[in-house]
Amino acid sequence: MKSINEISFNGKKVFIRVDFNVPFNDSGEITDSSRIVAALPTIEYVLSNGGACILASHLGRPVGKDPELSLKKIIPELKKLLSKDVMFLEDSTGLQTKETCSNLQNGEIVLLENLRFYKEETKADIGFAKELSSLADIYINDAYGTTHREHASTATIAQFFGEKAPGMLLEKEIGSLKKLMEKPNKPVTAIIGGAKVSSKISVIANILGFVDNLIIGGGMAYTFIKNNGGRIGDSIFEADRLKDCSEILSKAKHENVNVFLPEDILCSNEFSNSGLQKVTNIYEVPEGWQGLDIGPKTMEKFEQVILGSSTILWNGPMGVFEIPSFEKGTHAVSKAVAKATQSGAYSLIGGGDSVAAITKFGLQNQVSFISTGGGAMLESLEGKLLPGINALSQ
Ligand code: AMP
Repeated sequence: MKSINEISFNGKKVFIRVDFNVPFNDSGEITDSSRIVAALPTIEYVLSNGGACILASHLGRPVGKDPELSLKKIIPELKKLLSKDVMFLEDSTGLQTKETCSNLQNGEIVLLENLRFYKEETKADIGFAKELSSLADIYINDAYGTTHREHASTATIAQFFGEKAPGMLLEKEIGSLKKLMEKPNKPVTAIIGGAKVSSKISVIANILGFVDNLIIGGGMAYTFIKNNGGRIGDSIFEADRLKDCSEILSKAKHENVNVFLPEDILCSNEFSNSGLQKVTNIYEVPEGWQGLDIGPKTMEKFEQVILGSSTILWNGPMGVFEIPSFEKGTHAVSKAVAKATQSGAYSLIGGGDSVAAITKFGLQNQVSFISTGGGAMLESLEGKLLPGINALSQ
């Protein structure tokens, strides 16, 4: 795979697949522009090296053309952040679009309309991909969050370009996963949490191949405890996943991975801030009570393992951190990951909820790397080749 630094952009038109899928409030204002900000270095790099940018993205999940999901809405923010004019093209294909793009001068930028207004996009349609490719000389993919999707603009299109590479954001994402999965500094600790074990079974099974320690917290821990014969009261668990947990524990033993499950937990008789609360052994949760956070002994144990690690992966909260009474465990883990990073460990955080948590605790700048792709990161951790990354090497 080529690097963006190896490509000459001078006088070239560059199709950049970005991720401008930003959230809006009811008044139509962008509530978080971090995805646009994340794409700026690549756009600015191409412009400063003499190229013109044709930016393309999806926004939401439209069925046909939906003015509510037009990318035109992000033009003011994009202009402001780039301090440059940006042209908007109402059609992503067709003669008019082709003519505008072929007349683009170095340093100019156009943004195409939401690619998902065209059903061909998600169908990975080859004709649509070819038409998009005819607008530019070079293809750059900087939309890590959609690289696990085999769509026209994320995968199919790449075959029509001789010159193609990941953008700066995508390059960093690939690099951070390599640091974790290929020859990481040992010991390696994975902290996996969140509500459901079912959504992370394949990830856990794959990472057992390269981690030394596996910390399991959050709602998913109760399916493991139930499998081990514990009484979990009304805590969340998945009856159809007991066998998977049993297989994971056997595989971990076989691979010499130390598994750390919670010992004590904070439980409540209500899924809210206002119920009764108490700390119990995780194997003895009374009926009518549910575990909603890890307890103090567990926090201490997890902290000790994290502080002794040289490489750390964290995906998923340790409890219902959105409710203040149950945020302590996730906060303790965030602090331990930040502290280990300060002492020289490499830490990679991914998945919407862990990112939201670390940001809530104001520690987002104290870890090595925060991934921008939830689903894409999980699929990489499962050991899958992502279509959007694979297409850049063909
Ligand atoms: P996931 O999307 O699978 O990473 O799950 C994240 C969600 O898991 C968050 O919204 C947490 O509130 C929730 N969660 C974490 N621990 C528990 C628990 N013990 N019981 C119920 N939900 C939990």
